[in-house]
Amino acid sequence: MSDKACRECHRIVTGTACAVCGSSSLSSDWGGYVVIIDASRSNIAKKLNVDIPDKYALKVR
Ligand SMILES: [Zn+2]
Repeated sequence: MSDKACRECHRIVTGTACAVCGSSSLSSDWGGYVVIIDASRSNIAKKLNVDIPDKYALKVR
């Protein structure tokens, strides 16, 4: 199985729906794996508009 990315919040999702935003709009076509550890101090987190430490995709198609 391969991980998918949520089209709404870019979170890497294992399963059939995003645990955070509840979206089932997932894409297996994504790139740019990034791990946010300290969202409040991460420029990438700001760019992706996320505030929860987790794994995210930079690009989701
Ligand atoms: Zn989501």
